[in-house]
Amino acid sequence: MKTLQQLIQGYQHFLTVYCPKHEDLLAQLSRGQQPQVLLITCSDSRIEPGLIFQTEPGDLFVLRNAGNMVPPYGDRNSAEAGTIEFAILGLKVHDIVVMGHTQCGAVRALLQLDNVRTQLPCLCQYLAMSARVPALIGARSQEADAERQFRLAVYQNVLVQLDNLLTHPAVASAVERGQVALHGWVYHIETGAIDAYHHSTGQFLPLQQAPFEPVHSEWPLKLT
Ligand SMILES: [Zn+2]
Repeated sequence: MKTLQQLIQGYQHFLTVYCPKHEDLLAQLSRGQQPQVLLITCSDSRIEPGLIFQTEPGDLFVLRNAGNMVPPYGDRNSAEAGTIEFAILGLKVHDIVVMGHTQCGAVRALLQLDNVRTQLPCLCQYLAMSARVPALIGARSQEADAERQFRLAVYQNVLVQLDNLLTHPAVASAVERGQVALHGWVYHIETGAIDAYHHSTGQFLPLQQAPFEPVHSEWPLKLT
């Protein structure tokens, strides 16, 4: 893994090779941004959106935190709420993708809140916004082993965040008017594969095989 010194060397390369080659793009971007997609994903270092989606600067508006969480509407001090509102009303993005991932440490912590509370009190308090995830998967997979529970929780956590998204008036109204479509994805760190939530079957299917079908505002968004 790279040290800060190595990152600075990478920056030197960016500055001397990439920037001169992309002068026109950078000049255009200095006049504003018009990303079409808001990507809400985890802070995990193994998620590299620019690499995964082969994007250039200006392509993606990204909101990241541990566990790709979206607090339910209500706290006006929430950075997530302000960022989402700006993406919809300011940038007028067309799509919002919540992308969780396998082996997510935040989701693992969510399944063991009582065990990690002393060590990581701030994280635990913040993860409580998704406290219904363990109950949702526990209720439907009591026989499953811990790793299976963990995997299910990653998927269920994405659905809970989509549900939380719809509590935000800017999101609900844009979805209602057909201006914004919501998508729930899970990225597999092991392979690079992505599964997409398919609303009409209630299942996650491989992104490349799944019919393109945004999530609409009908609860429950439960795994089936
Ligand atoms: Zn994560």
